[in-house]
Amino acid sequence: MKVFKFGGASINSIDRIKNTASIIQSFKGEKILIVVSAMGKTTNALEKVVNAFFEGRKEEALQLFEQLKNNHLDVLKYLIALNWQKAENQLKEFFTEIEWLLHDKPVRSYDYYYDQIVCCGELLSSSILCNYLAEEKSKAIWLDVRDVIRTDNNFRDAEIDWNFTSQRMTTSVAPLFQEYDVVITQGFIGATDENESTTLGREGSDYTAAIFANILEGESVTIWKDVDAVMSADPKKYPDATILHSLSFTEVIEMAYYGAQVIHPKTIKPLQNKNIPLLVKSFLDPTLQGTIISKESSKNLPPIIVHKSNQVLIQFKSKDFSFVEDKPIQQLHDLLNDIKIKPNLSQNTAISLLCCFDDHAEKIDQLAQAASNIFDVEVERNLTLLTIRHYQQDSIHKLTADKNVLLEQKTLQTVQMIMR
Ligand code: ASP
Ligand code: MG
Repeated sequence: MKVFKFGGASINSIDRIKNTASIIQSFKGEKILIVVSAMGKTTNALEKVVNAFFEGRKEEALQLFEQLKNNHLDVLKYLIALNWQKAENQLKEFFTEIEWLLHDKPVRSYDYYYDQIVCCGELLSSSILCNYLAEEKSKAIWLDVRDVIRTDNNFRDAEIDWNFTSQRMTTSVAPLFQEYDVVITQGFIGATDENESTTLGREGSDYTAAIFANILEGESVTIWKDVDAVMSADPKKYPDATILHSLSFTEVIEMAYYGAQVIHPKTIKPLQNKNIPLLVKSFLDPTLQGTIISKESSKNLPPIIVHKSNQVLIQFKSKDFSFVEDKPIQQLHDLLNDIKIKPNLSQNTAISLLCCFDDHAEKIDQLAQAASNIFDVEVERNLTLLTIRHYQQDSIHKLTADKNVLLEQKTLQTVQMIMR
């Protein structure tokens, strides 16, 4: 069995959905498990619904949701003729669930409502794709992933219950392939033991694909994207960027960790653990070679550049010239845990600790405020974090020529710089 993941861009219009279906049909006779994201920017649109609902603007929430409904119904209308009524009824069931909720008043946490509402993006897109394939006479079955992926109730960043999920997948998903060639399900979402929907973190569909492949021992995972392959840098920012046709799991997990937008960082471990190769291919031109990520070590790599803008550097400085050691560091860690924010880089000096974060404005303000009880806190915004793997001295010079480097960290493989 192969696992395919189709991201939002591959199904964001009628033509794209048809294109995706034709890619699937070109693998006729093979067993394929398909994980899809929400169409286009649906997840962002659903986040706006959540915000309006949670802030008590019910009418606005309903109106925003109405737009989203119409978009999906329009797409359905153009794709499906034969079984249109059945397909529409399925979408309407998902709509109704959300609308019921939107008519209530929020009494639980923001994150809880986020997951109950946002999960519908993937339910809708997978349902549309599956019904379109049925219309095209492909033998595909739709699976509600919330019946098989069990998580804890850490809403918006839920942790997988691997035991339960393995058992469920083995007993109820694997047998589907005796009758069907194609199983279509949702990325990014799961459910708790109380049947509440959960999400795995933004862009989490890649991770879902890896979970299925790991448990069902897939032969490979293919992530279909709107790029030709994985590149050594973002070609929009770095014109010298080159295509990387093969990469090791180690290389990719490091790249993703440093913030490269290639693949969700959690995706690699489940694949590496079972030695399942990951292919990145273009849905715009499936004949292109793409990138293969596997246990083979990557040789002769060019400098790989990961550029993260919108960074904040915070200096936590001892108030009375005592060393910043175990106790204040522990207190700071607890704070970061509570606020759910992770530094992208940190460095100690005798009486201060420097940490660089993505600028989630609210969290940063909250952190600076709380930490000021323990430290003198200084915040500098609008910075860039540049990471270069396999750097050469001249690549560093070139990339930092007109920049003010505030902090640099180097290992043999990797250099990271925070720049103004
Ligand atoms: N639809 C979700 C998001 O946009 C999950 C994904 O795309 O992987 O974050
Ligand atoms: Mg997406």
